[in-house]
Amino acid sequence: MSTQSVITHNCLVPQKELRDFMYGDNARFTAKSTLTGKHYTYKMNKVPVPDAPHTHNHHVELLIGRDNVLDYMHIGDVVGGVGRSKKFIFLNGGDIIHSWSPSIRAIKFVVYHSFSRKACPGLQIWRDTFCDNCGKLLTHPLSVEAKLGPVCRHLCG
Ligand SMILES: [Zn+2]
Repeated sequence: MSTQSVITHNCLVPQKELRDFMYGDNARFTAKSTLTGKHYTYKMNKVPVPDAPHTHNHHVELLIGRDNVLDYMHIGDVVGGVGRSKKFIFLNGGDIIHSWSPSIRAIKFVVYHSFSRKACPGLQIWRDTFCDNCGKLLTHPLSVEAKLGPVCRHLCG
């Protein structure tokens, strides 16, 4: 998977791969709807559950600014122990994100989908990667696919 940026493209890859990635630690990925073209970038980090050994919740952060390294906000947690009982709980959106915002509906769907056996042609999950030219972190689907950021695509194209 080292040079392969697409974790699951049109959900044709077995979901186990997506789960291992998402529910590992420090996962950063962009979920894109091929129907609307909209995409949202998230970070997920493991947090231990008090009094429950070997169990983890995950903090979920949403990219809300232009800096894809720094501009994240903690929007909620994936809770529910292991397997299919996991679900995303919305906690905080400041003044800009609400429980019905598309970015929240999207992460709920991604968590649900990660345990589904059904294909989901409208959803793409793009793992973060680095620009082949300058080494910057890439999260935008077009950049991840090209392995070049917008500036370097322009220079190298
Ligand atoms: Zn670059």
